[in-house]
Amino acid sequence: MNSASISSEQLVFLPGNPQISVVLRRSRRSKRLSLRISRIKGLVTLSLPISCPLTQAKSFLIEKEPWIRKNLIALPTNIQVCVGTQLLYRGNKFTIRMGQGKKVIPEVSNLIVPGPQSMISSRTKVFLKLQARQALRASTDFYAEALGRPYGKLTLRDTISRWGSCSSAGNINYSWRLIMAPSDVLNYVCAHEAAHLVEMNHSPKFWSVVEQLFPNYDQQRNWLKVNGENLHSYKF
Ligand SMILES: [Zn+2]
Repeated sequence: MNSASISSEQLVFLPGNPQISVVLRRSRRSKRLSLRISRIKGLVTLSLPISCPLTQAKSFLIEKEPWIRKNLIALPTNIQVCVGTQLLYRGNKFTIRMGQGKKVIPEVSNLIVPGPQSMISSRTKVFLKLQARQALRASTDFYAEALGRPYGKLTLRDTISRWGSCSSAGNINYSWRLIMAPSDVLNYVCAHEAAHLVEMNHSPKFWSVVEQLFPNYDQQRNWLKVNGENLHSYKF
């Protein structure tokens, strides 16, 4: 099917300071006007039925303008990682300091990263990814063994939309940014993906496997909902 025939996009602007651009997305599937703001890029999208007149869309946006502005302000801003940056590592706040030698060392509330300045960001990222791989591997091994189900490859990604995924072949992907989250949150995601080795869906049966591996996971799930997006605000 030609996708152009089922949806179309158009850019409109809300005047004011700052001016806000809104993507109007017309689609046969839209039954009503629905507004959303992507937390990562701050992109404002209004989905609307094909037949909806532009004037109606515009008056809807003007009515919602205070809400849009309020939510755009609340977005996490991008943080370029450098000396002095505060970031989360295993759920605790660390401040990046420049050090000597070759190793990145977490020390009380400081993360000592070897210089020069120009290498701080990339060295921090290499360190976090390495720690992520070790922690995610150990935790996935633990839960997969508890279920008696082997898994295939473990791959780290930097996906915005999901913290982990498990393919039907049993390969598991994780966002390496999980190493910034508290360890129990990382463990919950591993239990969740391991449970997919048994149930490839999100049925009640699946959730009972998760519950068996990781009882009372609500708090960890909620942590990701509330704080997860902020982990993506760090730019390396
Ligand atoms: Zn899942």
